[in-house]
This record gives sequence, structure tokens and C-alpha cells, in this order.
Amino acid sequence: MTIRAFGAPHRYLQGPGALDQLAALVPLYGRRPFVVADVAVMGALRERLAALLEPVAEAVSFVEFSGECSARRIDALAAQAEAARSDVVVAIGGGKAIDSAKGVRIIRGGGIVVVPTVASNDAPTSRLAIVYTDDHVLSEVRLMPTNPDAVVVDTAIIARAPRRFFVAGIGDALTKKFEAEQSYNSGGMNFYKARPAELAPAIADQCYRVVRRSALAALKAVDRREPDAAFESVVEATILLSGLGFESGGLSIAHSLTRGFSAIPSLNGALHGEQVAFGLLAQLCLEGRSDDFLDDMVGFFRAVGLPATLAGLGFSGDRTACIRTIAQRSMAEAPYLKQFVGTVSEETLIAALDAADRRGAAG
Ligand SMILES: [Zn+2]
Repeated sequence: MTIRAFGAPHRYLQGPGALDQLAALVPLYGRRPFVVADVAVMGALRERLAALLEPVAEAVSFVEFSGECSARRIDALAAQAEAARSDVVVAIGGGKAIDSAKGVRIIRGGGIVVVPTVASNDAPTSRLAIVYTDDHVLSEVRLMPTNPDAVVVDTAIIARAPRRFFVAGIGDALTKKFEAEQSYNSGGMNFYKARPAELAPAIADQCYRVVRRSALAALKAVDRREPDAAFESVVEATILLSGLGFESGGLSIAHSLTRGFSAIPSLNGALHGEQVAFGLLAQLCLEGRSDDFLDDMVGFFRAVGLPATLAGLGFSGDRTACIRTIAQRSMAEAPYLKQFVGTVSEETLIAALDAADRRGAAG
């Protein structure tokens, strides 16, 4: 009998003004917070963070983050945290700032509170830190021993982030139902190197329902830059449900194809969520979904503004060669390609990518 496992942050808080909760939360995990914040948000938030944390801490250190999440950068941050004798990391910003802070947590131990300021992907609730070389090439995935102690999502801040990031988060969230189902049904493993618990596909399914039900209304809130009920539901789907769905459910074809996409330079400008959304279309073609099903999905992509073709992801050039490269590279490198019911080969992947691209262009 194989072990099944489910993991999650110890606590998740979300809502307009949730940032204020840091004053009560951070002292649960340490007295000397080390705040790593994206340069883009530090300016706007530093005073507020100081007012929240200084009265409840022995000492607060602030570090402005910009650039790449690399091993060199993580080591430098860890040395600063060591010098400050910090015992809890507070990570504020986008993916790279958060992943760098997770890198510090891996090296030094202690607590970690994660505060995403964009809802563009599924990473904040997870144990994963994606580390790149200084030249922006993916080099390794590091794992914290436990999920973040707390994830705090202030939707008044998220609502001010660019619309494209929000749409990308929707793309990343859409895939989870279909990847978790393939992972579960194929005997696949999740990110705890265990079988998914029954709970994981249920979370991924709810993630999909919420996104399909509320995404269009939530985008109106994004345009007004003011959170409302639909916005809150979709943020929960794109950060909490999407994160739990992949980490405890496991991944399949849609995310595997990102390894192939990274081999095509003109696709590098596409956001992760945009890439995996197109990867989902290819997965659904590989699954042999009906025309009606695929048309409905492409129609939803159009409605929310997700790219449904390689050209939409930024590709220009020889389409046939591009598709072959994506398929070959994914076959060679992708870790979750076998988490699929049925056989996956270079030929079937090429056919699926081709069908997805044509469907996206026609739909
Ligand atoms: Zn993802």
C-alpha cells in the first residue's frame, strides 16, 4: 500500500486589509522578523509594515528584493538574516521575492509568513522555491521541510496589480482539475512524493468551478481596482485552491509542456499561467475531448483574455518545427508526463499541440 499525503499552510487569511493581521500573526512564529519585499511594493508598504511589526517585535529587518531568485542571491539574503539574528521570514511580493525568502527559510529554519501581492500563480501556499541561474535559466527546485506557517492575501493590494497577472493566475488555476484527475487516475504522485488523498482532486475540481463561475465578474472588479465577492472567490481559487491542488494533487501534461515551451525563445515572454493554459488545451486534445468541450474551453479563454494559440503566447516563425521542439524537449525533461492515463509519445504530443493551436485559432 502506498502512502497518501496532503499538505497545506498552517493558516490562510484573505480579504481587504488582511495585511494588518501580520501584527497578530508574525509574533506566533518569531520575535525578529526578516522582511523580504519586492522593490515595487516596499515603497508603498514599508511604513505600514514598520507600524504593524515594530511594536510586536524585538527587531525588524527590511530587505528590498529585485532581480532573479538565484542560489547566489539566496545565500546573500541568508547571510543578512543571520547577521540580523532573525527567527521568522516575512516574504512580500511576486514569485521571485517569495521564492528567495523560502530559500532563506530552507537554509536558516524558523518561521515563514508569505504575503503575495499578485495572484498570478499557484506558488505562495507551497513548499517549493524555484531557483534560477543568474542568467535566468531554471536550475533547481528547492523544498521547504514544511508549508508556509501562514499565507496572508490582502485583496485590496491584489486588486491593484496588473490585469494580465490576474488572468495568468486564472490560467494556472484552470489546469488543476484536469491535471489532478490525470495524476489521481494514473497512479501518479504529488509533491510530497506520495499518492494524492481523496481531498486533492476535490479541491482542484472546486478550483475549476469557482473560476468558471466567477472569473468574468472578478475581472470587472480588477478593472475597477476594487475587490468584491466574485473577486474574493477567484483570488481564493487562484492562490489557495490552485496551490493545494497542484502540491497535494500532482501535475500532468499541461505543466509538463512548460519544459518544452522554455526551449522556444519567443515564448519566454509569456507568463507561467499563460503557458500552462495553452498546455491545458493540448492536454485536453490528448485526452480526446469532444469538439463541444474544446470549443467551450476556447470560448472561455477568449472571454477572460487567455492566449489560446502559440502565436498568442508570442511565437513567430516555423510552427511545425516549434511544435516538434516543444514535444521533444518535454519528452526529454518533463517530470510529470507519465502522470497520464494512456501512453504519451513524441508523436501524440505533436498531434495534440497542433490540434490545440488550430482549435485556438479557429474557435
Ligand atoms: Zn502552475
